[in-house]
Amino acid sequence: MKHDNLEDRDVEGSARIDSRELIRRYEQTRDTVAEIAARHNREPGDVRIIAVSKYQPTAALRTLAGHGHLDFGENYIQEALRKQDELELPELRWHYLGRLQRNKAKFVPGNFTMFHALDDELLASSLQLRSKTHGGVLEVLLQVNFGQETQKGGVLPDQLPNLAEKVRRMDGLALRGLMALPPFSLELPEKQRLFSELRELRDKLQTHLGLPLPELSMGTTDDFPQAIAEGATMVRIGTRIFGERSR
Ligand SMILES: *Cc1c(COP(=O)(O)O)cnc(C)c1O
Repeated sequence: MKHDNLEDRDVEGSARIDSRELIRRYEQTRDTVAEIAARHNREPGDVRIIAVSKYQPTAALRTLAGHGHLDFGENYIQEALRKQDELELPELRWHYLGRLQRNKAKFVPGNFTMFHALDDELLASSLQLRSKTHGGVLEVLLQVNFGQETQKGGVLPDQLPNLAEKVRRMDGLALRGLMALPPFSLELPEKQRLFSELRELRDKLQTHLGLPLPELSMGTTDDFPQAIAEGATMVRIGTRIFGERSR
């Protein structure tokens, strides 16, 4: 699908790494994730790496795709759609990680496999409507906010069951689990405690709804080992794979 009506922004940065170095970093990340998973008695396949490619050049995504990597995470809709158009690789799985204005919900179903940061019933309705029109199912995760002041997105734990009940009844959406992004400023043990809380919230919610919620999207470059220790099924890793973002 072409998206010519969308404004194109120049997001190709200067701090590029060459493709050999990129593949080296990717493989090292993959091996580390597998090692940590094994240390916690988990299969390597139980923890999926989402390569977070915001602000990274399309060429870098093409290199990883050519190396067999399929899951990419993006935060900005125009940038993601532009890369999808440039790559023309329908086998890729795109994960939307960012905030989204409701009037842009129409761009998500059909172009993304999973929406990681759902925290609002009205946005959920818009996504559902578009998803039904599109005729597919959009997998969604609810983002949890632990009430830390520096945290922006996410639903507070005590509002989670209410939102989950509503989302599970929406036909075009498939509720698959929970997501969290702890404040950057926390120390690792505090982040690990929040990851553990997220898993407990998931367990409770799953019982409450009588619905399996297999996915826990948690952990980034800085804290993915702690997230895997607490049961992450998806780690969202950007900088460690691609290098510093160009902005
Ligand atoms: C940017 C981003 C990441 C990746 O962060 P890194 O520190 O580069 O690994 C993960 N999750 C979300 C929601 C992000 O916005």
